[in-house]
Amino acid sequence: RAKQGGRNTHRFFTPEMQAQSARALTLENALRRALERGQFTLHYQPQVHIATDRLHGVEALLRWQHPELGAISPTEFIPLAEDSGQILAIGDWVLRTALAQLRAWQHAGHAVPSVAVNLSAVQFRQPGMPERIGQMLAQAELPAHALELELTEGVALDDPQSASATMDQLNALGVRLAIDDFGTGYSSLSLLKRFPIHKLKIDQSFVRDLGEDASDRALVSAIVRMAQALGIATTGEGVETPQQLAFLREQGCTEAQGYYYARPMPGDALPGWLHSHSQAAGKQPVP
Ligand code: C2E
Ligand code: MG
Ligand code: MG
Ligand code: MG
Repeated sequence: RAKQGGRNTHRFFTPEMQAQSARALTLENALRRALERGQFTLHYQPQVHIATDRLHGVEALLRWQHPELGAISPTEFIPLAEDSGQILAIGDWVLRTALAQLRAWQHAGHAVPSVAVNLSAVQFRQPGMPERIGQMLAQAELPAHALELELTEGVALDDPQSASATMDQLNALGVRLAIDDFGTGYSSLSLLKRFPIHKLKIDQSFVRDLGEDASDRALVSAIVRMAQALGIATTGEGVETPQQLAFLREQGCTEAQGYYYARPMPGDALPGWLHSHSQAAGKQPVP
């Protein structure tokens, strides 16, 4: 933050700020080795089609386990990897690993239709990115509709024109595009007007307080109706309770994702979850 202060601003560093930047430096250095040392894994979280209770797909979520520093949250290390450019190599690994895992599930006969991968704005702007993704799909022997890319509103901030060209290319491939954390950015509505988006993921901050907060209910309801009118699917993120799910269902939200169904889990745990989920589906009363 300090470097953003204007000229002549009096700046000083508190001990907490020093500790923070020391940690950032440590993490950035450790990140450089993390890929080759095999410290990354992916966890997968189910995204469930609300009307049918069937699995729509899973979202791949990156995990970093460092031998001394322990588990480090992606919300902490992804921004560092973006700043240092390391997100490109890491993001490639995520895409390849997620596609290989999806292929393995499908080969073993598990009904996992697709995988969603978070794409950072830095990756999205990398020249030749759509071609690269096309190659990865071919290598994994998967059709393009098996991949959904989760983009944040930030991808379009700098250069909307080239962002829309990139989205058109991805669209032509057949890859689906979702806007992640929808509603938290500044460009939400203009994004919908300009870009070929297939899905809005309603940010968990709107879902969390649906029970207590009438304005969150109004916002979620309006987002779903607007998306319906535009022919865009919606996913409620961070669904933890049957009440939250019931509200989303009433509004006509397409999918739900959250601890209510499952926490993100290692790839080899998903078949077990799928099995118990399909067992439970016939028995549980609809909330
Ligand atoms: P996101 O893409 O919005 O992912 C959803 C986050 O919400 C995940 O946090 C997930 O574990 C968490 N979550 C899911 N259900 C619930 C719930 O019911 N309650 C609560 N409280 N939380 C829930 P996670 O795994 O820590 O990831 C945080 C963020 O890091 C992600 O947010 C995404 O922006 C970023 N990220 C994760 N993996 C990748 C990746 O491979 N590449 C990039 N570029 N970003 C990633
Ligand atoms: Mg996401
Ligand atoms: Mg999100
Ligand atoms: Mg998020």
